Amino acid sequence: MKREAQAARRALEGMEKEGVRRTLRTVEEYTRPGLTTHVRVEGRELVNFCSNDYLGLARDPRVIAAMTTSAKTFGVGSGAAHLVTGHTIEHQRLEAELADLTGREAALLFSTGYMANLGILTALIGRGGLVLEDRLNHASLIDGALLSGARLSRYAHANVGDAMARLDKAEEEEHLIATDGVFSMDGDIAPLAPLAKLARAAQAWLVVDDAHGFGVLGAGGTGCVAEAGLGVDDVPLVMGTLGKAFGVFGAFVAGPRDLVDFLVQRARSYVYTTAMPPAVAAAALAAVRLARKEEARREALRALIERFRAGASALGLPLMPSRTPIQPLVLEDSRRCLAASIALRERGFWVAAIRPPTVPPNTARLRVTLSAAHTEGDVDRLLTALGETLKQRAA
Ligand code: PMP
Repeated sequence: MKREAQAARRALEGMEKEGVRRTLRTVEEYTRPGLTTHVRVEGRELVNFCSNDYLGLARDPRVIAAMTTSAKTFGVGSGAAHLVTGHTIEHQRLEAELADLTGREAALLFSTGYMANLGILTALIGRGGLVLEDRLNHASLIDGALLSGARLSRYAHANVGDAMARLDKAEEEEHLIATDGVFSMDGDIAPLAPLAKLARAAQAWLVVDDAHGFGVLGAGGTGCVAEAGLGVDDVPLVMGTLGKAFGVFGAFVAGPRDLVDFLVQRARSYVYTTAMPPAVAAAALAAVRLARKEEARREALRALIERFRAGASALGLPLMPSRTPIQPLVLEDSRRCLAASIALRERGFWVAAIRPPTVPPNTARLRVTLSAAHTEGDVDRLLTALGETLKQRAA
């Protein structure tokens, strides 16, 4: 065996020992019509409690119809980057809807959220600048900062005082603050108003990644920035994804027209990649419209979140302070967390064990996510299984 392959195998063995080696699970089938909550994985039927299809839109027949109709007209691929020939009327309509959703002048589509964050950060800041980020930010914001060449400084989670102290000490002249809106592995919400105040006082850019807030939080699913009562003067750029609450795929950034036009010129992950398929844009447009209109989905989701939290609290489970569909149970030890996830699978539930390096050392967790498509019975049965599994583990 080549030396590199041996090194890879040793690294994998080390990960295995620490309980942090990841494995792919293949969904063979969705087993209930119109839902993604019930799946067959490796021959076993499971209730899925770890997807980001928060509003249950991913298999909505109206969203599927929008995609199918568009594919019949536009085909299955965009054929080129947006600035070449890949930008269609389907993309344009979706961008207009997203500008309206966010209350911003313009919106710009990216093929994924990961690419959106790389594009935004590298376009707005570079060598000689400073990027301040919450320690628990999503990997794509961290990677965007690293790729930009600016100095990256990570403040303690949700600690605006720490961010301020770091800004005060900075020798750089250009500053950018970036934060998750809803933290993807913890479910809590960033202190947006004080961050906006800090950014304004320091004349720093502020970018909020609301991948997990759009569709779920705020009136009509307008996200955590709108819910906090903040506008474009407070948070110039908001970023969101289309593959979570909206159930489709892709991402966007929204802001003032000139800033968005600037990104069209300079965001390399926008310029140098194939545009999302037009039919995907059409599906996303249908999904965003449904998400805005169908308040009952958000109400159902909120009720399930409350039900889960009340039940978990009665069982003494280690809940985090979260009011979003992300409800992690921190078990700390990676091996214990993995064993709990496997035990839950044996009882018919799919709950991912999230381990380092996705989360900080000793904070491995079962990341339970809820969807409007779950039933009260699904949640109650999960609680029973969690109670039994975690009690057994503690004994
Ligand atoms: N930001 C956050 C906060 C996320 O949770 C994710 C998805 N895990 C992304 C960005 C990346 O989005 P996408 O999956 O569309 O690349």
